[in-house]
Amino acid sequence: MDYPGNLFVVSAPSGAGKSSLVKALMEVDSRVKLSISHTTRPPRGQEKHGREYFFASDPEFDAMIAGNGFVEWAHVHGRRYGTSKRAIEDRVAEGQDVILEIDFQGAVQIRDTFANAVMIFILPPSWEELRSRLERRGEDSPEIIELRLQNAATEMAQAHKFDYVIINELFDSALFDLKAVVHAQRLKFAAQRRARPDTFESLAIG
Ligand code: 5GP
Repeated sequence: MDYPGNLFVVSAPSGAGKSSLVKALMEVDSRVKLSISHTTRPPRGQEKHGREYFFASDPEFDAMIAGNGFVEWAHVHGRRYGTSKRAIEDRVAEGQDVILEIDFQGAVQIRDTFANAVMIFILPPSWEELRSRLERRGEDSPEIIELRLQNAATEMAQAHKFDYVIINELFDSALFDLKAVVHAQRLKFAAQRRARPDTFESLAIG
């Protein structure tokens, strides 16, 4: 499937700092918009329907699958998560670049559909640091932290399927890396031609 803007997919094990990095990117780059996923997990804390996620019941999620409403979906930590076609199409209509913050199973499905998607994997600097970030976050019980660490091993084993790897050791440096990837993608021939058709035409470049 062809996509007029740039499509970025960011995956990471939980605790690697993916959400903070993406949030910081969007604060300085108004051209990139986050795709809002659907999930069957309940809202946490201050989360609002339609802002962090579209929270759906299992039957609602089933209905979306049956209606071919997702470009990808997967089971993550015992719940289902998916990117709706609308989440991408709405942004396309706005002429925006889209960023998807999804797990590796979804990322692989996106690559199958959108061959030009830019796949970015965020790694923690070490196991010790990943564990201590999960502990410091204070959101999860020790059992859940163990589960997240086990899942992290499975997820990180998939990092080789991605185009770019960013190691989030120092936040500012990881953010610089993420901005660099986004910027480089926008300078690609096809992306430039899409973004600046008048310039290309006036210079008679096909
Ligand atoms: P959380 O429940 O902590 O917000 O997210 C749990 C995991 O689900 C994260 O790894 C997140 O990237 C992933 N996730 C969020 N939305 C989607 C989605 O639409 N599709 C897939 N495949 N994974 C998602």
